[in-house]
Amino acid sequence: MDLMMTMEQPSLPANIPEPGLYIVATPIGNLGDITLRALAVLQGAAMIACEDTRVTGKLLKHYGIKARLQRLDDHAPPDMRARIIDEARRMPVALVSDAGTPLISDPGYRLVREARAAGVTVTSVPGACAAVSALAMAGLPSDRFLFAGFLPVKDKARSEALARLADVAATLVFYETAPRLTRALLAIAELWPTREVAVARELTKLYEECRSGTAASLAAHYAAHPPKGEIVLLIGPPGADEAPVLDADAMLRAALAAAGPGKAAGIVAKATGIDRAALYARALELKDE
Ligand code: SAM
Repeated sequence: MDLMMTMEQPSLPANIPEPGLYIVATPIGNLGDITLRALAVLQGAAMIACEDTRVTGKLLKHYGIKARLQRLDDHAPPDMRARIIDEARRMPVALVSDAGTPLISDPGYRLVREARAAGVTVTSVPGACAAVSALAMAGLPSDRFLFAGFLPVKDKARSEALARLADVAATLVFYETAPRLTRALLAIAELWPTREVAVARELTKLYEECRSGTAASLAAHYAAHPPKGEIVLLIGPPGADEAPVLDADAMLRAALAAAGPGKAAGIVAKATGIDRAALYARALELKDE
């Protein structure tokens, strides 16, 4: 995780939390994005369960918090969860993930479910979540949204997963990785060429950006400018104000900004299905404009 150091260490409230399991959200990049309540709970916790003790150790060090850390990821054995739950009956125990809200494409679901079944009080201490932050800034309909986690990696499985969501009357929100972004956009372009799509990248960090357009135009952009960092991909609902389909010239110009005519033609051909030779001829003209 790439955390920005943006804040001086704040002074912490001193109240000790009651026994129970606390699900605590931590920043997704900007270390200022943590609540006073989260800091108080982390400071007062007898133990903090986390995905990676090095990542959480670094975070706690920044806030001047010393705590006993216990690694708990998806591969933890059931008796590890039982021990954490037993401890939470008697003392405050916190669960954090590497970044953002635990359980949201992160571990914790089983722990929370088993803690509740065991009669342990579970408290949510809310804060940063990349999916919600992206939805808040993308300008897509936000009255209804479906968060669908990560798309499958393989092309066929990805297209099938997307196709199953075709009739969902809500903005679709996915987590995506930089190396897979262009292929995911190409799959979306094939299914829904006119829907408005947004890519929210590096949220709360130095190079934060949110770019909207058709999937094909975004695919052309990111093929020409390979993205870095962490990404949320959003797709507007069917029938919403659909984005104008960008013409091939606009896409070629975007691709030509970073690539030669041959590569630019290839990128746009892939994104649009237009004949590559015709695009190449047009790219040569545009290049000399
Ligand atoms: N639990 C986290 C949350 O509340 O957002 C998400 C954890 S999930 C393992 C990590 C994924 O979240 C990343 O691959 C990326 O898709 C998204 N993500 C996390 N931080 C982000 C950021 N600063 N900007 C954009 N996307 C981010």
